[in-house]
Amino acid sequence: MNLVFLGPPGVGKGSLAVRIAKDYGLLHISTGEMLRAEISAGTHTGKLAEKYINDGNLMPDSLIIEMLLSKLQHSTAKQGYILDGFPRTLNQAQELDKFVQIDAAINLDAPEAVLLKRISHRRICPVCGKGYISYMMSSNLCEQCGVEVIMRDDDKEEVVKARLVEYHTKTEPIIDYYRSTGKLISVDGDDTMEGVAAKVEEILEDLKLANN
Ligand code: ADP
Repeated sequence: MNLVFLGPPGVGKGSLAVRIAKDYGLLHISTGEMLRAEISAGTHTGKLAEKYINDGNLMPDSLIIEMLLSKLQHSTAKQGYILDGFPRTLNQAQELDKFVQIDAAINLDAPEAVLLKRISHRRICPVCGKGYISYMMSSNLCEQCGVEVIMRDDDKEEVVKARLVEYHTKTEPIIDYYRSTGKLISVDGDDTMEGVAAKVEEILEDLKLANN
């Protein structure tokens, strides 16, 4: 089963992808995480990515497509994978379809006020990248690494506004693309993580039955 998770920044697709990937034995591939790893490693791609990400802009298609396809070629995802944060433009979606078979695109959405509130509480571990919600933490340390969690630079309010503009202009058109290919499944992301996960799991069970 190869899935795409779509949705605006802050809708919760990353946390959901981690959870669903674990429950279904799928490989979780997040292009955002891959880019943050490149930034931490100080690579050429990382230096370029830092500028785009911190301005709230999408990376150029050519670069991100090459990075993702190379990851897929080298992956040993037997049960399939979840693409989290890719595709983000129509061109990326069309390129992806030339190389792999996507079974479903799960589109999560929530009102902008909800997204902004969630992002303001979002923290990550600068070492392992694990995500946290600030008010649900008993201390401000990563439970895996013991280091202080931080707010992503691109989660600062001004940058989030630019990211939302990028989302509406470049990413939203993909929803129609997946609708036209019959792969779109829309899920209301304005719910608890448990609630959203339960809905997505129900959908995946139906998909599994339909594919057998
Ligand atoms: P979120 O899911 O919170 O919006 P991500 O961690 O997925 O954020 O991505 C962070 C940033 O990385 C994006 O705002 C963008 O600059 C860059 N990025 C990630 N994936 C892509 C992509 N497929 N195409 C272009 N840029 C990307």
